[in-house]
Amino acid sequence: MPEQLQGQVAIITGSSSGIGAAIAQCMAAAGAKVVVNYVRSSKGAEEVVGEIEAAGGKAIAVQCDVSQEDQVLNLFAQTYAAFGTVDILVNNAGLQRDAKFVDMTLDDWNWVINVNLTGQFLCSREAAKEFIKRGVVSECSCAAGKIICISSVHEVIPWGGHCNYAASKGGVRLLMQSMAQELAPHKIRVNSIAPGAIKTPINRSAWETPEAFNDLLSLIPYNRIGVPEDIGKAAVWLASDDSDYVHGEVLFVDGGMTLYPGFATGG
Ligand code: NAD
Repeated sequence: MPEQLQGQVAIITGSSSGIGAAIAQCMAAAGAKVVVNYVRSSKGAEEVVGEIEAAGGKAIAVQCDVSQEDQVLNLFAQTYAAFGTVDILVNNAGLQRDAKFVDMTLDDWNWVINVNLTGQFLCSREAAKEFIKRGVVSECSCAAGKIICISSVHEVIPWGGHCNYAASKGGVRLLMQSMAQELAPHKIRVNSIAPGAIKTPINRSAWETPEAFNDLLSLIPYNRIGVPEDIGKAAVWLASDDSDYVHGEVLFVDGGMTLYPGFATGG
């Protein structure tokens, strides 16, 4: 059986660490040529590229701040220079800048919205232009291109102390669905993955002490924290033709966090 993403090119934003790094590795293992995007230090991205190459895959590292239009254009230009086209975009770059609502500065708000939401818009627009221009390459995929938005359970679970983050992910939900509606006639598939608690640098404070970790587990019916590979495997499936009829959907990969665990024994 051929590898699921053989002959395809994938850009994964923010893939020098955490979930993005795992998606890059899983997609490379499935046969894709991978663009590993980083924003500041190239160290993590070079490690990911090295691991992919050591396993026999192809990858390059490209610097880009996804909230900056000129840098996004350059990310795609560098992708085309190295690999000729793009078939899969994973909008993974994201960050938190937490504050109590009344203490949240405009800078806190804008920074998170610019990276988590505007960054997904800018990258998706460039990918969609290329998918429309190139069309379906039937030896590679039934679709002309695939966009996967990394959202969060906080696109549906309100999150005090993180209003900017929850608003950005709620925005990703309707950005994804609206793109899916508009781009479907071009055979472009658009979906989201909404992770629950995945052990990465972004949420260190939620798992690094035993007390915090136990509090976290009480929110997860399946009773384990997620690992980045949980999202990597889901992303490979959503990018592959195995999910060809899945479009405009949010795949929650959260150990049941969105099942309102507080109601398990009462309510
Ligand atoms: P992470 O901090 O390891 O990864 C985020 C990545 O985004 C980093 O590599 C960072 O350098 C990059 N980034 C930040 N600003 C950027 C910018 N302006 N341009 C390009 N890249 C930028 O954390 P993670 O948990 O791997 O997060 C990945 C995604 O998953 C984020 O969108 C996050 O919101 C989402 N998510 C994570 C969890 C979790 O529990 N870890 C849960 C739900 C959603």
